[in-house]
Amino acid sequence: MKCHTFCSVWLLPAILSLSLHSVSSQISIDRQLLFEIQKIKAIDDHAHVLPARNPDLSEGERPDPLGKTPFEYPVRLRVNNPEYVDTWHALYGYTHHDMAADHAREALKAKLRLMIEKRTEYPSWVLDQAGIEAILVNMPLLGPGQNAPRFFWVPRADGFLFPFASEEERINWFRKEVGLDTQPSSMGEYLDTLRRQLDRWKNAGTVAIKFAIAYVRPLDFARVPDDEANRIFEHVRQDKKLSTHDSKTLQDFLFHFMAREAGRRGLAVQIHTGIGAQPYFDIAGSNPMLLETTFNDTALRQTKFVMLHGGWPFDREAGAMLIKPNVYADFSAQVFLRSTEALSQTLRAWLEWYPEKILFGSDAYPDDTPLANWEEKLWLASRTSRQALALALSQMMRAGQITRPRAVELARMVLHDNAAKLYGLETH
Ligand SMILES: [Zn+2]
Repeated sequence: MKCHTFCSVWLLPAILSLSLHSVSSQISIDRQLLFEIQKIKAIDDHAHVLPARNPDLSEGERPDPLGKTPFEYPVRLRVNNPEYVDTWHALYGYTHHDMAADHAREALKAKLRLMIEKRTEYPSWVLDQAGIEAILVNMPLLGPGQNAPRFFWVPRADGFLFPFASEEERINWFRKEVGLDTQPSSMGEYLDTLRRQLDRWKNAGTVAIKFAIAYVRPLDFARVPDDEANRIFEHVRQDKKLSTHDSKTLQDFLFHFMAREAGRRGLAVQIHTGIGAQPYFDIAGSNPMLLETTFNDTALRQTKFVMLHGGWPFDREAGAMLIKPNVYADFSAQVFLRSTEALSQTLRAWLEWYPEKILFGSDAYPDDTPLANWEEKLWLASRTSRQALALALSQMMRAGQITRPRAVELARMVLHDNAAKLYGLETH
């Protein structure tokens, strides 16, 4: 990224807000190294952050200022995680040290006032507080206050794996999301539709497309000959029912097509790997090892793949995949699902293997949890990531594996430079 005027504005609060006190018990962190890491302006590889809005202050009167999660979340994501108090201190000037409803309501009102006061500057202001220079946003669209060179749109492409309307609600929703509402008349016409959409996305400034397909089926995409895909396409066109087997085969073919065409256009392909945001998500089907056929495919060598969430709990398997020259991993979501120490162990293993392929990511997303929302998750993700990196790199320094200058360089690569290079973003 070019260093625009915002750099000088946000750097100082970012340093100050990422306080040392919460890591004081982790004596193995090198303080000087952590201080250096806190100054690095990050690129967030994956998030679902919201645009600016003009809220009503009465929202701050809700009886449950902490809100409710859609299901029983894991510990660090729960609204009563005391780490959120740190985020309120840093973001909203909160003066209390507890989460009592009356006190929390003060934080919420301060937050709403900031949203109203800052208007379209609010999303960038939040990034500033978290020390984040640019962010890749996976949402249906970008909105007010979300513009380049700080916000980049990553559209979801799953709908294109389903050329025909389905009885499954989620599949029709995926189709609708990419604008599919009719049956295609031929395979050739359908593939042209896909090419045109990729061109439109590229021209709109997107740097990657995303597949969340592990929410629907396992990631074992086979290589399918054109004839076989054509046969299935014609079968359905003649009003014959699509078998489960043929449906998978057609999805495999279209995934391969999309991945290849995206690569030709310089668009990276992000794939959700590892645990999902639902209790009955098929965790085994999201193992990045299932992608090995895709990663090894000679026709896809031009395509850069990013394993979102670094496959956790299959982080070792995701790490092994980094040996493929066109495969990368971010550790988004791991930053709030795991402890700083647990995350640092994964980062150390990856740093000892292919440090050029590791990307910082938050996966910050909105919920009906006004004080544990995308802003707080983003701030906390930034702090956890920097602490986990500092811990892993401190240990590597002490073990004599790396020098101090190399430790800072590796942190810079993970937090910023690897993503800048992968997506072709201008660096500061
Ligand atoms: Zn996500």
